[in-house]
Amino acid sequence: MKILKFGGTSVQTAERIESVYKIIQDALNKEKIIAIVFSAFGGVTDNLIQVSLLAASGQKNYLSLLKDIKDKHIHIAETLIKNKNRGSVLKEVSSILQELGDILHGVYMVKDLAPRTKDFIMSFGERLSAYIMSELLISRNINAEFLDTRKIIKTDNCFNNAHINFKETNKNIVKHFSKHNKVQIVTGFIASTSTDETTTLGRGGSDYTASVIGAALHVSEIVIWTDVDGVMTADPRKVKKAFPVHHLSNEEAMEMSHFGAKVIYPVAMQPTMEKKIPLRIKNTFNPAFHGTVISEKRESTKFIVKGISSINNLALLRIQGSGMVGVTGISARLFSALARHAINIILITQASSEHSICVAIDPGVIHQAKRVLEEEFKLELTAHWIDKIIIEESLSVIALVGENMRHTPGISGRMFQALGKNGINVVAIAQGSSELNISAVIKQEDEAKALNVLHDAFFLSETKSINLFLVGIGLIGSTLMEQIKAHQEFLSNIHALDIKIIGLADIDKMIFDLEGIDKNNWKEIFSNATQTTVIKDFVNKMIQLNLSNSIFIDCTASEDVALQ
Ligand code: ADP
Ligand code: ASP
Ligand code: MG
Repeated sequence: MKILKFGGTSVQTAERIESVYKIIQDALNKEKIIAIVFSAFGGVTDNLIQVSLLAASGQKNYLSLLKDIKDKHIHIAETLIKNKNRGSVLKEVSSILQELGDILHGVYMVKDLAPRTKDFIMSFGERLSAYIMSELLISRNINAEFLDTRKIIKTDNCFNNAHINFKETNKNIVKHFSKHNKVQIVTGFIASTSTDETTTLGRGGSDYTASVIGAALHVSEIVIWTDVDGVMTADPRKVKKAFPVHHLSNEEAMEMSHFGAKVIYPVAMQPTMEKKIPLRIKNTFNPAFHGTVISEKRESTKFIVKGISSINNLALLRIQGSGMVGVTGISARLFSALARHAINIILITQASSEHSICVAIDPGVIHQAKRVLEEEFKLELTAHWIDKIIIEESLSVIALVGENMRHTPGISGRMFQALGKNGINVVAIAQGSSELNISAVIKQEDEAKALNVLHDAFFLSETKSINLFLVGIGLIGSTLMEQIKAHQEFLSNIHALDIKIIGLADIDKMIFDLEGIDKNNWKEIFSNATQTTVIKDFVNKMIQLNLSNSIFIDCTASEDVALQ
């Protein structure tokens, strides 16, 4: 018995949905699939949030975005459903969309978007997608049935990020599935309170829906279909060389996702971990690929680190002072005060001198956190036992994750050496005592560079990239270019070195290519350059790109260049 889940990235267009249909048909022919969970169609949840914010701020143009949302759903339903039910399905879709329009009109009139209203509005995404998908499958003779999870998944009333009441939910799930034999086509992400108000499980929460249902029914596997080949060694949008990881333990997957790997919802592993049910992440664009399995097993690989992830926007709050040394209860008061105001702490560091404690917090609440602590430590601040409470913003945290890091010496050394060599300053460091995760707080602007530097250091030590910025392509510069071209195979095969020419300039023109200018064709490419050379701009561009292993080469006789 299995459950499949398709994310918004898999159901973005009617064309993509056809591929999803083939995957479903194939799975149904091979094994028993009891439920298929759907997220909202790609981008729809973002659109719903945007349209409700527009309406709440009294902007009439919310109507045009609402029209886009309506058109998208009608278009998908019209394109895909061709049987005799088409008319009634389109009527139902229109009626759900009409309801959405009515609610938004209400929000527009009262200019208020309470969290419960926002949840209700967001629920339309999954309600529409799962309904349309169920009708599509029925129209193609699959024995399927629509299931609105608000009927069975019960939560508290923490709108936007509700917590599941597992006792009741599990009972409801078991009861529902014992009475319904058809394949259930399930709304991800949404649930309801004990008084039947609509709630949502947090952004990306459809993965959680699949694992909650799967765990309650003890299925053999849950397959999460998305748009990448599995959990990758790093965010593929930020690290070009990232590659899929074959297997992750539940703990590793949780660490990766808590630290920003969006591919799986962080708490999705909790229900399945208890029941020892594996989760498999697969790519709808590449269904033949095995993907990543997340399970209780601990599989070792040749790499010490399994993955590198990052949280992009973070603030740090530091409280320090001589009056903190040896005084018990300071951290307890700090954490309790923040907890009382529901301020989440992402990372903690304290030097053993006890002179300071640092906590990383969501920038959205950092100023509130400061006020809360100023109140809590009012006496200490007045008596100067504690200095000012300091905030640092525009930071990121990068984390190395992997079971193999346990008891392996030298990993932090390698991590900080790689960062240091590339001029990346580390603001704070934290390592969990499980040794499953080493995190470093760095400047936000260094994040992409740090990810790439660490990826090279831990995964691709066989090949190193060097990024060249060359000014002057007269006799000397061109000869150097020709030498690099002639030696590229030798450098790659013998020295595992990949030299990329990222920037090239002469006195008149300059060009940049992040992928590296084609060395076999550089003269022609350069002759088509249109950007005028301003040497200061060239240097600034190099600094702004902030690539690892960057080298500037001056092949001119110009004093101007040397002065830069
Ligand atoms: P879905 O709509 O299928 O739930 P998401 O957008 O939630 O998809 O998650 C998939 C995306 O997560 C990928 O497209 C990828 O860009 C991003 N991502 C970030 N970090 C990672 C990682 N370490 N491995 C794989 N994907 C990642
Ligand atoms: N549609 C929801 C979101 O975009 C849930 C999900 O995709 O998992 O957050
Ligand atoms: Mg997702």
